[in-house]
Parts: sequence; C-alpha cells; structure tokens
Amino acid sequence: MYKKSIHVYLILLMSVLGFNGYVYAQSYVPGEVIVKLKNSPGSTQTQQFFSKAQGQKQLFLKRSFSKMNMYHFAGKPGQSVEQMISELQQDPNVEYAEPNYLLSKKDLNGLEQQYTLDEIKTLAQNSPYLATGADIHVRELWESVSQPSVKPIVAVIDTGLDINHPVFTESGALWVNSNEIPNNGIDDDSNGYVDDINGWNFVHNTGYMLDDDGHGTHVSGIVLGVGQDIFAESLEEAKIQIMPLKFLDSQGVGSTSDAINAIYYAIQNGAKVLNNSWGGPNYSGALHEAIVYSYEQGVTFVAAAGNAGSDNDFQPMYPSSYNVPHIISVAATTDLDYLASFSNFGQTSVDMGSPGVFILSTIPGGGYGSSSGTSMAAPFVSGVAAMMIAEAPEMLGFQIKDIIFNEADPIAQLKSKISTEARVNAQAAVNFAKTSTILTEQPNYSFTNEDRQLASSLAGGGGCGLVSKLYSDIYKGGGPGSPGSGSTNTWYIIVILGLVSLPLMFLYYLRSQLPENRRKHQRFKIDSEVKVKVGNKELIGSVSSISLGGIQLNTNELLEKGSIVAMSIQSPDGKEQIEVNGHIVWSEQQKSYGVQFERASETLKDKINRWSKSLKPT
Ligand code: CA
Repeated sequence: MYKKSIHVYLILLMSVLGFNGYVYAQSYVPGEVIVKLKNSPGSTQTQQFFSKAQGQKQLFLKRSFSKMNMYHFAGKPGQSVEQMISELQQDPNVEYAEPNYLLSKKDLNGLEQQYTLDEIKTLAQNSPYLATGADIHVRELWESVSQPSVKPIVAVIDTGLDINHPVFTESGALWVNSNEIPNNGIDDDSNGYVDDINGWNFVHNTGYMLDDDGHGTHVSGIVLGVGQDIFAESLEEAKIQIMPLKFLDSQGVGSTSDAINAIYYAIQNGAKVLNNSWGGPNYSGALHEAIVYSYEQGVTFVAAAGNAGSDNDFQPMYPSSYNVPHIISVAATTDLDYLASFSNFGQTSVDMGSPGVFILSTIPGGGYGSSSGTSMAAPFVSGVAAMMIAEAPEMLGFQIKDIIFNEADPIAQLKSKISTEARVNAQAAVNFAKTSTILTEQPNYSFTNEDRQLASSLAGGGGCGLVSKLYSDIYKGGGPGSPGSGSTNTWYIIVILGLVSLPLMFLYYLRSQLPENRRKHQRFKIDSEVKVKVGNKELIGSVSSISLGGIQLNTNELLEKGSIVAMSIQSPDGKEQIEVNGHIVWSEQQKSYGVQFERASETLKDKINRWSKSLKPT
C-alpha cells in the first residue's frame, strides 16, 4: 500500500503541475447509466424491470437501443452513478449496468496552421497529397476510380461539419436524406429524427448541423481527398457522400450513449464506412455491442489508435482496441514513414500506419489548415475503404479490412510496433478490390461476459495511460467488484492526497518563479553528430545545443522552415543515439537551424536529462 500511495501521490502531483490534465477530469456523465437486460424486450421480466425502474428506482429512460436490449437512463437528482449501478446490478433482470463514459477527439493540437487556397495548392503540389510526404498513392487513385452509380456513404462520427464549406457544397459530397422533407417539423421517414436532412447533431439534439470545434470538418476533408483533389480550382463531383454525425461538443468531448446513437443512426441510414477519430480508456460493454451490431450489418469501422504515445496492448484505447473483425485501428506515421512520436501503437491491438502529421484539409468557415493526430490518419483509411466500395459495392467490412492490410506497403520502421507493420497504400487496395471475388459470408463473432470482465480489469477510469494503470492497480488491489466501487476508493485516495500535497504544490510554484526556471526548457551546450532525413535527402550535421524541446542543428545544406525531419542524434560520448522527429522552426544564415521535437517521448526525455548531466548550460 505504501508503494501505491507514493505512486498516487506522484501522479497527483504531476497532474497538478501540468504533466497531464486527466486526474481531475470527469470520466463519465454524472447521473446517467447504460443498462443491458437479460430477457427480450417484449418479455414479462423486461416489463417488470421497467415498471420497477421507472417507479421505485425513479429512473428516467432517455433512449432505448431495443435491438441490443440496451437502455440509457438518467437517475433522480443527486443520485450517484456508483449508487445506481450497485442497485441495478442486484436486479436479476440486469445483465450489466455501466457508467455513460466520456469519449474525446484524437487530434493533437487542434488547428495548427491556417492557409489560403493558393498556399495550400503549392504545399499539396509538392507532396504526394494533402502535404504528406509518404506516398499513399491517392493521385493515381483519382484517375482510376470512375463515378459510381451508388455513392458510398461515409459516416463521420465526430464534432460535426461546416456544411457550407465550398469543398462540400461544390462537390456535392454532403449526404442528403431524400426521405425527409426539410423544416416541416415532421419525422417524414419515421427513423426517429425530425428534419434530419444531412445527418444528426446529437449534442444539441437537432438536425441543424454545425462544427463548433473544427475537428469533424478537417476529418471529412481528408476522407473526401482520397477520392478527388479537394484543392482543385473547380471541384469535381464527389464519388462518396459524407454523413456528418455530431456527438462531440465544442470541446471535442462526447458520451458513450451518443456514440452508440450515432453508430445506430449511421447503419439505419445506409452508411457503409464509419470513421471514428475519437476514443477513451474505459471499456464499455454497450459500445462493444453497438460495434458488434455494426459488424453484423457488414460495414467497415475505422478507429484512431490514440495520441498518448503508448502501447494499446497494455493500455487499451476504445473503440480502437475492441477486437471485432471489421475494426481497422490506425496509427499515425510521419512523412518519412516513421511512427509519429505521439501515436499509440500495439503489436496486436493496433493495425496499420497512415499519415498523421501536419495534414492539410478543410476547416470551418470555408478555409484550410493543418492538424496532426491519429484522428487525421484514420480518415485516409476510411477514404480508401469508401473507394473500394465504389468499385465493389457488395464488399463487406471484414474483407475490405483484409485487402487494405494485404495491399499496404511494408515499412521497416513499423516493425514490431503494429500488427501489419505496414502503411496504407490507397491505389493498391482499390485495385485489388476491383478484381477480387466478393465474400458474402462473414466470420462469426460473439463476445461474452468474460471478455467484458477481462477488458474491464484492464481499463481504468482515468484519462491517459499512466492514470489508467494506477486506477487498475487500485481496482485489482481492492478485489473483485464493480468498476464503480473501485473508483470510489480511488477518488477517496486522490482527494485525501490532494489535500496533503497542497503545501508542496505551493513550494513548487515558488520554485517555478525563480529566474532559471522561467525558460520552458533548459538548453545545454553539446558537440555531437546528427543524421538527418528530409524527404528523400539524407545528411549529416552537428548539434551545438540540446534541450527537452529540440536542438540547434548546423549544416551547410539548405533546409526550409517548416520541413519535417527525422533525426538520429548521437550522445556526447558517441555511445548511444536518440531517434526523434521534428520540424524546423527557425534558421540563421542558412547554416544553423532550430529544430523542435515532435512531442518527445518520456524515454527520450530521460536520455536527454541523463546526457545533460555532463553538459554545461548555454
Ligand atoms: Ca427523419
């Protein structure tokens, strides 16, 4: 217990000091639960459950997922989720009850840079496409896929879409629900949603579509860009339809119940590919079931692996980590086909690489900009799946996944990091789909309560990997029980330790005010060699200073500001190396360059800290 307390203490302290912001973050919607019942919806037992739930338990039914026999309830005011779950679990009709966990978008920094159309055209021209250096062969694909008679629908389950952006209006890429009459206040197609013309906004519960974050608009542009040039002077007619389903709010956060709603809606309304650039660390049986339902309907489910730079085999990220046969779990790779430093990986649980650093796409308001993250990597794969369906409309999700995996380019740098050890190749996958025999039967997939318990014990209630592990340690230490009871203990410990650590935090604050600590990262003089890869060019330079944030690189080669470089930096004694990606942030007389690391890993920071013990500050 002593060791654990120290652990909790350190993590708490780190969180307060800004190393991660997740400990205090709520991990589920207060006062809400999702319940799965044992008996069929029409059965006497289910009816009995409902009369008891709505009577004596005072639960308010928010939505039924009757096909899965799952129900989303709100409790009476003041009732805790733990309390609701422990009461519900005693009910013999309940298979399980769980919190309505929160999920969040998986980009890294939001919008990184904005560009004019002219600027973006130049940037895109100098690269295979969308300013990614790694050639996933989309330009060839644009030529080779003809206009399909039925345009595949891609559901972008995200923060919404700027439906007035010229890229989507001029190409006609926006999905239109032809069975719904706009603005008549009637659910004309009886799908449960009134005036759902272009999808649904689950955050504000309206058909009015907007994107108050920008993430969904950026992701949608990437999906569309796989099939056509979205930066062209005049836009061609789109080969796909984008169905925006907004469940993440202006902060990029949404609930599991709304994610399930969106998945359900996508399937009911004809989507063939579901792009999911979001996730969270908590296992949800309800979300798992919704995804199994989507598998049975034959769609393709693409999920971002997450941006914690951690191993999903040990710290899962859902939905990316569910093992349903139609899920493609996507890691982000750099221009040079390295795993991006922020990207999650996992030899069994993460599948393939796709470009995810400084990706150009659409942003709300009609403009363009760049973003990074596994959120940007996943939509390339969704776009590829959509083009395959344009060529082979009957193809099912599991086969699409197999072909994308088999036709991907093997990349040495991805070896033993992700299951395919490969990066997506758009044209090869679509070409293969054109000629392959279509398999009409899917492998059976079912999951049991054991899977659920196994996964629950792995997943914690926290946000980032470190915290998840802490949660699960405590949870396991407390013996078997509901996730709810585990997290009660955890919160108790955290609150007490929070109070105890206040004086220390104050001390740290005082120290941080000392002059030498004001600079973000202390820089040290160093004299060592660095091997640099820029595009196809390789060069050797010298390093004259180093910090946790980057290096000063000296070379006679001309490097452009903004370029992405892969570096192998030698230690002062020449005995070890650091492999890290970065981008050029400044240059001096075209001889000396400032290179900023792309979010450095903890291992890298440890090494630099170790090296700097023998170095002098600048
Ligand atoms: Ca409707």
